[in-house]
Amino acid sequence: MSQSLSTDVLIVGGGIAGLWLNARLRREGFSSLVLESGSLGGGQSLKSQGIIHGGAKYALHGALTGASEAIADMPRRWREALAGEGELALSGVRVLSDAHYLWSPGSLAGNLTSFFASKAVRGRVDQVKGDQLPPALQDPSFKGRVYRLAELVLDVPSLIGRLTELAGEGLLAARQIEPLYEDGELAGLIVDNRVIRAQRVVLCAGAGNAGLLAALGLQQPAQQLRPLHMVLAKGPALRPLYAHCLGGGSKPRVTVTSHPAADGQWVWYLGGDLAEAEGVARDEAEQIRAAQKEMAALLPWIDQRETRWATLRVDRAEPAQSGLVRPDNAFLADQQRLLVGWPTKLALAPDFADRVLAALRRDVVQPGNHPPLPELPRPPLGRPVWEELLS
Ligand SMILES: Cc1cc2nc3c(=O)[nH]c(=O)nc-3n(C[C@H](O)[C@H](O)[C@H](O)COP(=O)(O)OP(=O)(O)OC[C@H]3O[C@@H](n4cnc5c(N)ncnc54)[C@H](O)[C@@H]3O)c2cc1C
Repeated sequence: MSQSLSTDVLIVGGGIAGLWLNARLRREGFSSLVLESGSLGGGQSLKSQGIIHGGAKYALHGALTGASEAIADMPRRWREALAGEGELALSGVRVLSDAHYLWSPGSLAGNLTSFFASKAVRGRVDQVKGDQLPPALQDPSFKGRVYRLAELVLDVPSLIGRLTELAGEGLLAARQIEPLYEDGELAGLIVDNRVIRAQRVVLCAGAGNAGLLAALGLQQPAQQLRPLHMVLAKGPALRPLYAHCLGGGSKPRVTVTSHPAADGQWVWYLGGDLAEAEGVARDEAEQIRAAQKEMAALLPWIDQRETRWATLRVDRAEPAQSGLVRPDNAFLADQQRLLVGWPTKLALAPDFADRVLAALRRDVVQPGNHPPLPELPRPPLGRPVWEELLS
């Protein structure tokens, strides 16, 4: 027999966007339920590098772009939440690094002058030397310059774990999702054998949004996928490093983050230009060779003989933009009772939730009276990619 439930906001997708939004809504007095067809965080979120960008990376080509402006406030909002004083109580989430670094292996390229003058980095970049350098760069043969950016790097597994706690009973493992129409309007969703009515339905299922929209007979908003071919390295000689290594271009040559594996070793997670177009075209063995060459050239003092390597292909899912460029903000579109969006960055999850809350306020949606949710089948927590690929 089918079960009938009701809630204020039904959220499809248990990545950072859905989990953050769910926690914000509950804090504002709304009831909400997150539907997840895979594992919590197991889409892009647990595959991200966990950098809470303040936009500095986007100012590398000198000009202050829309992205630099929109994202500039995110580190402050996350820091407040992590201190237990912000919009969400995220104390207990592990901060892997209090700073991300810009690392120029040679002399500074000329175009960085305007970068340092841009609003996104002004007053927030300090050069570091000697024992202030990240551990992996503390070697007598190190040459180059390193600048500290006031951008955090988070342990995303602990973040997803905390947001799952904040979700309380509001999580449901969902296999089949169909729209529920009443009087010609979207009244909720039919999830497996349950009819769930809601005042609003929010689709934030990352790459899954396209299929959900198709099931609703909608073509807009269109989605774009930007592929990446990331590299993971794990070994006893690796030391923590959180840095954009600068090449000559407008994108970092390689972006390194470091993650603690369950066995106590460090995992380097390598993105940036290495993982983009040319990297995507390489097969796994070629991509590993390219990464080994790059890291041997940049950090020759680190003994890589016992390092194990793997690659990960993953798509960033975003609203379609002309020329596959990176969108500037969290994105939200709405159509009557349906809201659809992508945060476009882990760091922009607060901005995504703001946009949903603004749409609820605009439509004067108030918390309703709903019977408490019964015990529901819970989706599992996703596992860190390095444990999947290198344990
Ligand atoms: C390699 C990589 C590195 C990145 N690094 C950073 C970084 O350092 N900093 C940063 O700010 N951003 C980073 N990003 C971007 C960031 O990860 C994403 O923007 C963000 O995680 C997207 O969150 P999301 O909740 O929209 O999507 P997802 O995390 O993909 O979550 C969507 C969820 O929806 C579920 N789902 C899909 N279809 C359905 C369905 N039909 N029914 C129910 N559930 C469904 C999925 O299983 C998934 O759990 C990175 C992205 C990648 C790929």
